[in-house]
Amino acid sequence: MPKKLMLTSLGILAIAVVLTAPGCMPAIRTDRDTVYQTSTISALMKGVFDGDMTLGELRPYGDFGLGTFQALDGEMLELDGKFYRANLDGSIMEVPDHTYTPFAVVTFFDNDMVVDLEQPTDLSQLQLHIDGKLVSPNYFYAVKVKGKFSSMKTRSVPVQVKPYPTLTDAVKNQQVTELHDVEGTMIGFRCPPYVDGVNVPGYHFHFIDSARKTGGHVLDCVASGVRVTIDGTPSFVLGLQDTKGFQRVNLGAGQPEGLQQVEQGK
Ligand SMILES: [Zn+2]
Repeated sequence: MPKKLMLTSLGILAIAVVLTAPGCMPAIRTDRDTVYQTSTISALMKGVFDGDMTLGELRPYGDFGLGTFQALDGEMLELDGKFYRANLDGSIMEVPDHTYTPFAVVTFFDNDMVVDLEQPTDLSQLQLHIDGKLVSPNYFYAVKVKGKFSSMKTRSVPVQVKPYPTLTDAVKNQQVTELHDVEGTMIGFRCPPYVDGVNVPGYHFHFIDSARKTGGHVLDCVASGVRVTIDGTPSFVLGLQDTKGFQRVNLGAGQPEGLQQVEQGK
C-alpha cells in the first residue's frame, strides 16, 4: 500500500485522500478554505469507533467542527479552537487534547456571508434559507447559526464497548434533551450530494448553549432570532485511518443503510 495517496480534481474544488500513516511525507497542505475530515461516515456506521487521531492532531486543520470520540463516547463539537463533549445527558465538558476521535470534520471558520433571520424558523426552513444563499450545492460549506432558539432538541450517544455494534444499534440507546428559550450556537456543515458514504449529504449540526453547559447533535429546533454565517470551503481533504478496524471493515459503495434514521434520531 502506498504510504501516501493523493488525488486532486480539476477546478477550484480539490479533493485529496490521505492515508495518515506515521513517519511518511509531511502532512498535506491545507488552508483556511479546506474542510478536513478523519475517517468516513460509512466506517462509523459500521462500528469503526476507534480512531488514530487525537484532538491535538486535529486542531491544526481547523477551529470549528463536529464529530465523535473514541468508543462513540458522546457528540463532539469544536468552537473557537476548543473541543467539547456533549455527554449522554446533554451536559457539556471541555475535552483534553490527547483524546482520540474516530470521525471528525473541521475547518477554520471565516464569515464569508451573513444572513439574519428574525422570524421563527424551524430546522427545515432554516436549511432552505441557507440553501437559497449558496453559490452552488456542489461545494462544502461550514455553517454557524448563533442566537436565540425557542426550542432545541438534541441527542447524545452512550459510550460503547467492544465488539462494537453498528451506529444504528448504538443510536437506539441515545438520550434526547429538549431545551426551551435557549441561546447558543449551532455548528454544522452542508455537504454536497455526492459525498454518499464519505460524509452526510446535506446538513449536519451540533449545538452548544452560550454558557457552554448543554448541547448535542441537533435533531430539531426552532430558531427565533439568529445570525447565520456561512463559510464557503472549496477544498476537501479526507484523512483515512491507519487502524485494523478501518482496514478490515467492508465499506461497500453509496450511502450506508440507515444513515438518515441515525442522523435524524429516528
Ligand atoms: Zn452529529
